Amino acid sequence: MGGVEAEERYEVNHQQYQHGLTRRELLRWMATSAGVVCVGPLSGCSSLWERQPVIPVEAWHKGVCRFCGTGCGIQIGVRGGRVVDVKGDEYAHNKGRLCIKGVLNRDILYTQDRALHPLIRRDGELQQATWDEAMTLIARRFREAIDRFGPHSVAFYGSGQLFTQESYTANKLFKAGIGTNNVEGNPRLCMASAAAGYVSVFGMDEPLGCYEDIDAADCFFVTGSNMAECHPVLWERILDRKRSQPGTFIIVVDPRRTMTARHADLHLDILPGTDVALFNAMIYEFILQGFVDTDMVEHYLTFREGTRTRTYADLRRHVAQYTPERVADICGVSARQISEAAFRFASSKATMSLWTMGLNQQSQGTAANRLVMALHLLTGQIGQPGATPFSLTGQPNAGGGVRDTGALAHALPNGRIVTSPKDRHEMEDLWGVPRGRISAKPGYHAVALFEAMERGDVKCCLVMCTNPAQSLPNVERHRRAMRKAFLVVADAFHPTETTQLADVVLPAALWTEKEGVFSQSERRYHLVPKLVDPPGEARSDLKILVEMADRLGYGALISARNPREVWEEWRQISAHSKYDFSGITYVRLQKERGLLWPCPSEDHPGTCRRYVPGEDPLARGKGRFDFYGRPNGRVVIWLHEQEQPKDPTTDAFPLVLTTGRVLEHWHTMTITGRLEALTGIHPNFLEIHPQDAALLGIKEGEEVVVRSRRGQADFIARLTDTIRPGLVFATFHSARHLVNRATNDVYDPFSKQPEYKLCAVLIDRKR
Ligand code: SF4
Repeated sequence: MGGVEAEERYEVNHQQYQHGLTRRELLRWMATSAGVVCVGPLSGCSSLWERQPVIPVEAWHKGVCRFCGTGCGIQIGVRGGRVVDVKGDEYAHNKGRLCIKGVLNRDILYTQDRALHPLIRRDGELQQATWDEAMTLIARRFREAIDRFGPHSVAFYGSGQLFTQESYTANKLFKAGIGTNNVEGNPRLCMASAAAGYVSVFGMDEPLGCYEDIDAADCFFVTGSNMAECHPVLWERILDRKRSQPGTFIIVVDPRRTMTARHADLHLDILPGTDVALFNAMIYEFILQGFVDTDMVEHYLTFREGTRTRTYADLRRHVAQYTPERVADICGVSARQISEAAFRFASSKATMSLWTMGLNQQSQGTAANRLVMALHLLTGQIGQPGATPFSLTGQPNAGGGVRDTGALAHALPNGRIVTSPKDRHEMEDLWGVPRGRISAKPGYHAVALFEAMERGDVKCCLVMCTNPAQSLPNVERHRRAMRKAFLVVADAFHPTETTQLADVVLPAALWTEKEGVFSQSERRYHLVPKLVDPPGEARSDLKILVEMADRLGYGALISARNPREVWEEWRQISAHSKYDFSGITYVRLQKERGLLWPCPSEDHPGTCRRYVPGEDPLARGKGRFDFYGRPNGRVVIWLHEQEQPKDPTTDAFPLVLTTGRVLEHWHTMTITGRLEALTGIHPNFLEIHPQDAALLGIKEGEEVVVRSRRGQADFIARLTDTIRPGLVFATFHSARHLVNRATNDVYDPFSKQPEYKLCAVLIDRKR
């Protein structure tokens, strides 16, 4: 059976939603009402629809989708001061395509529950207040805490949904103004392991390649990513490649037979958390089958295990224990599948790996990231069109907004770190503050920040544009912590799970109600213009941060006060680093469909492949590579052992829970959960294999309770053989069916990213 037939059958059998709408029906309805060409897993078979405009548009403006890190270009139609239509931008990388969430950008500004006025908690209730009252209270409480308990008693918790200018300004205010590195955010939960992987291997963060590599790859290694649902426009591009080059081979590694895995030529449905063993076995096979690139080993690689230097011979000895036969037992797949995956990966003309949360959200997330990079480096599958490791970003601006600006507790802009005196002094000089102003002490990473609130060490926290009271693992514990602190939440919507815990809620502008820059997975900075006014008294997050700086006495430091001024400052600062994008002027952002850094001059077209002399303007010499992020020019192959699960199954908790997402919803559904078109699609289900269901006496559609060592959540059972026996799956989208009550807040020791992807649970019928 071909992919198309398989998908149709899947829909009929499994994808009837609460209101009886199938995904295909929904997409068809959206396409005819919003008039947009849609793609998604169901159009993986080229089912495209013609757009039919609904409301005449006065003017079209280029912009960027508000949702995922694919960063699709869109044209935004405005009439009478309202966004009335959107369509895919044919001149952007997505070539006019949008998924259903992209289509729904048309409606996101006009949903219910927009936050319209500041609110202050009085007598236990959130009550309307003026901006002056709210900002006066915030400034007083933050100032009191700083003066009485020191700068580390306050914190900022942001998001990859903020514009770059906003994250940059928050980082500068807290680190160079207040003097604390307590600057964290949702990207720690999402992609910290990818960042830690790149930095520890290449000496610099962010992917090497670009989306164009998809058009040249002959083998795709998709591991820990359900791209068809989570990055559907990029997935469609992979399917385009497969259609035009039928010999293209797709390997998918995922414990579930996802929409993505259904298109795989080879699907390895490994047991969750066994990726390190699998990748070690692939390296074993590379060596055995003679695929190791000796030029890479001799000239470009070095080897490490923990703090110890190792050699290629040590790597050979290390992986000798990871034979496919032994690893087959660890991973729950066959040795033949492992050998074939290694052969296909190494023997193709160009292999591109793509991954996201499935690797990142593990207690060995950094190790798994390092090893995917090692697969490419050892085989030389890197630096040519189509050959690259390429991590995908979940949020629209986690890369450029948070990773590049260094808006995390250990970081400073452009790859600098707070523990380096040289890096601190450089940033103190660039920011014009006295030497010693930036603390040498790393701030609290995400889980530690909420633990510090629990202890009472962090007294005040500003949360911007994210919803940690739903998105954190082991969330009830961290909700209790938030209740102890003075919590300020700036959000475009109220209520959210987090605004309900706040002492002050600030109404924030959303998407095209303000202006700023996003950066998507391929290092492309692109501009979202302000096209309409925000509702009520809502303000941009940048304006809120500038006013907070003024009221706390840091107005002179935060001298760039609008999106253009902040961008100009940030662009100039980048010139002092190997993240140089000083050539990306605001005028270019306004004219062009974004530019990929490095981009060191105003006539530079942007860089597709980093570290390749002739392509990357920062790469020198005539060799194959100039790995300029590393002092000796050699990147690191890390040796890692497969570890045991941190939350093992027992008789009391016999099943493994893993979490993920669906196509139609995004993150904690703060936006998509309020869209009328999606009200019939509530991801309330728990996928369970029929064998497990039979053992537990659970029937399709029955209410069930998931219990872990930390908490429990209710779901509706969905029986499916697309999941392995012993494994259950729920999305983290729903506040009503809140899987994060059960998930584990243990984290990777390097990246500090929590392990959402596996924990031991018990499933009960609800009585
Ligand atoms: Fe938006 Fe991502 Fe969909 Fe593109 S793939 S339209 S960026 S949600």
